[in-house]
Amino acid sequence: MNSLTKKIIARLLKIKPKGFVYFGHGVCDQLKSEYIEQLHITRRQLVELIEFWKDLGVEFLSMDDLLKMRRSGKSSRKPWIHFTFDDGYRNNLTTLLPVMEEYKIPFTVFVTAGLVEKQEYMPTFYIRVAVMYSQKEWECTKTGLKLTNGMNTREKQNLADKLCACYKYLPQNEGVDFINEIKNLLSPDEWSKYKSVYSNDQLMTVDELKSLNNSSLVTIGAHSHSHLIFHEHQSKSDVFYEIKEPKNWLENHLGINTKVMAFPNGTEKDYNAKVVQTVKDAGYQLAFTTHERFIGINDEDLLLPRNFLHPKAGSILKEMLKSIL
Ligand SMILES: [Zn+2]
Repeated sequence: MNSLTKKIIARLLKIKPKGFVYFGHGVCDQLKSEYIEQLHITRRQLVELIEFWKDLGVEFLSMDDLLKMRRSGKSSRKPWIHFTFDDGYRNNLTTLLPVMEEYKIPFTVFVTAGLVEKQEYMPTFYIRVAVMYSQKEWECTKTGLKLTNGMNTREKQNLADKLCACYKYLPQNEGVDFINEIKNLLSPDEWSKYKSVYSNDQLMTVDELKSLNNSSLVTIGAHSHSHLIFHEHQSKSDVFYEIKEPKNWLENHLGINTKVMAFPNGTEKDYNAKVVQTVKDAGYQLAFTTHERFIGINDEDLLLPRNFLHPKAGSILKEMLKSIL
């Protein structure tokens, strides 16, 4: 870390105490492909990040602290951070938890309970792996985009990114067909091989989730049931089910009454006033987006911003400057 950046951040934290929520996904020992495993950061990067903020005297709040702070309507006098991790990757238990235990830092995991139960992978994992490794020539029925044998790595990555972006905005039933088409690009043997190579993308089992939940540092929140993105093309009944079901599931399997959730994808296209009302009616008290901002007293409890857990702490500087200008 550039020491000037650190000095500027230290100074800005003193001007007006600020708090924010980080959103990450997985934390692993090693990355085999930065592209395929783009949702994970390494243990070393996380430790450096924690040391950076610890050094600046930032407080690491729990989700309970955040709930209390929001209820009181007051902001903290000290700068604070709360760590959250989306989806429910197995390495949240095996790699992230030991680091957080060492530093005694509370964190929240927003788990996609339906995929944990089925031991499924994220749809975007299937897209990235299939496009990078399939030897088949293929034309996507939905988009007309083509995968050809002569494509180089960069071209394949661009294609996979375009397919991911398209997939995210399909209604649920069309999304299922889309992913089935993608799954056909590799044989079952090839899929087991790549799932084992890129094991970071494996979600926890139900038992592993229970064991993570046993840690007093951990809060488990919802992240829809099967990672449905609540955009305008989804049916009302699918959205209702995906908001309500994780609450029942967590109650039945973990015995917890979760009060918090994170919108899958979480951009402004991924919710609307009706979705937020459904979240409220389901009994959630705080819900998190992926708008990258510091949390202010005027933010709505069901649309709280979060900052991407970038391995470099300095990436937050832009947000800090925006918040005081
Ligand atoms: Zn997610």
